[in-house]
Amino acid sequence: MPFKKHSLKGFGSTAIHSGHQQDGNNAHLTPIYATSTYIFDSAEQGMRRFSEEEKGYIYSRWGNPTMAEAEEKISALEGFGIMENGEPLQLKSILHASGMAAISALLLATLKAGDKILSHFSLYGGTQELMEKVLPPLGIEAIIADLRDLNQAEDALKKDPEIKMLYLETPANPTIQCVDIDELTVLAKRNNLLIAVDNSFATPYLQQPFKYDVDFVLHSTTKFLNGHGTAIGGVIVGKDVQFMHGRMEKVHRLLGGNSNPFDAFLLTQGMKTLEVRMERHCANAMKVATFLERNKSVTKVNYLGLASHPDYATAKKQMSHPGAMLSFELKNGLDAGKKFINKLQMCVRAVSLGTCDTLLSHPASMTHFGVPKEKRLQYGITDGLIRMSVGIENIDDILNDLEQALN
Ligand code: PLP
Repeated sequence: MPFKKHSLKGFGSTAIHSGHQQDGNNAHLTPIYATSTYIFDSAEQGMRRFSEEEKGYIYSRWGNPTMAEAEEKISALEGFGIMENGEPLQLKSILHASGMAAISALLLATLKAGDKILSHFSLYGGTQELMEKVLPPLGIEAIIADLRDLNQAEDALKKDPEIKMLYLETPANPTIQCVDIDELTVLAKRNNLLIAVDNSFATPYLQQPFKYDVDFVLHSTTKFLNGHGTAIGGVIVGKDVQFMHGRMEKVHRLLGGNSNPFDAFLLTQGMKTLEVRMERHCANAMKVATFLERNKSVTKVNYLGLASHPDYATAKKQMSHPGAMLSFELKNGLDAGKKFINKLQMCVRAVSLGTCDTLLSHPASMTHFGVPKEKRLQYGITDGLIRMSVGIENIDDILNDLEQALN
């Protein structure tokens, strides 16, 4: 029996209740269905399942009840409050083993040799490498432009009729730059492109790309959706439900980048508190940004909530709050960056983002250590740059730790 059939009015209640199906034992939470396969009552039932005449599970690479709950919750949140033709927007999500598994499966399902992708120059490093190293031997090329400038996007589209997909990541990792989803989507649709948006930094609580004419939303669920740093995961959310159930599901099953019931369970529990976590993450981030702006050892703060950020207006237009990610530059470069990071006591020295704990990394000595200096400077990754994912600890503890490390 489906649980709570009435439509929920609030984002937080939707995050808690949507997707849950009561199991036969009346378990409050969907159990971790640690099973690879499912029993058929008879050969006839097996036939009906395989021919899709009858709904039901067959094999966990193809689907699993614990994974289904997480998928339905994500669809409900990405589509929350969005109407299409007078009806709530219908979305279909497919959970993957990681954000990268989701991104690569989507690109392989939608593009073919000779096709090109148009993207902004600031992207998560893994996505950039996928576009630079894995796709070109398959005949798929990425055209990189500064998509904050609509003219550059228009020029690229005029020059290259082979561009079939607009791929956006906003806010982008690691620079926290934003591109205008609305303007770019209008342009892309005029040119019959597919549009995919990586919404990992914002989450549907702050930004819903499906409010615009976007086809796919992607997440590294490892980040804010899980929220506790307990599992790697990813998801593709699609608006063309037929495509998602057809070609996308086929490619997903054959590539085998499926999630698993344990990680899906952790993700589901994490998403239930998305609203309250994001509220606290964002309130803390604003206070941290203001604190850092006033500190003499800090020369620059990059936070979308500060009017000094070049993409402040774009973020304000499409996000309900500027989020929990920021970066700042320390006086005295590399040495200052390393010293600061080493002195942290409560805040955690680690890559990744979106956990309850505040995480800080020093790209020049960590993620971008192997990147030639000239190249990383092009992306704004200076020697003294610190990236921070502001957690939900008590703000005084975060500020005290930063202060003692800066001093
Ligand atoms: N997209 C963004 C914006 C990311 O920051 C990351 C990882 O940091 C990914 C995708 C890849 O996700 P995963 O590490 O879960 O594969």
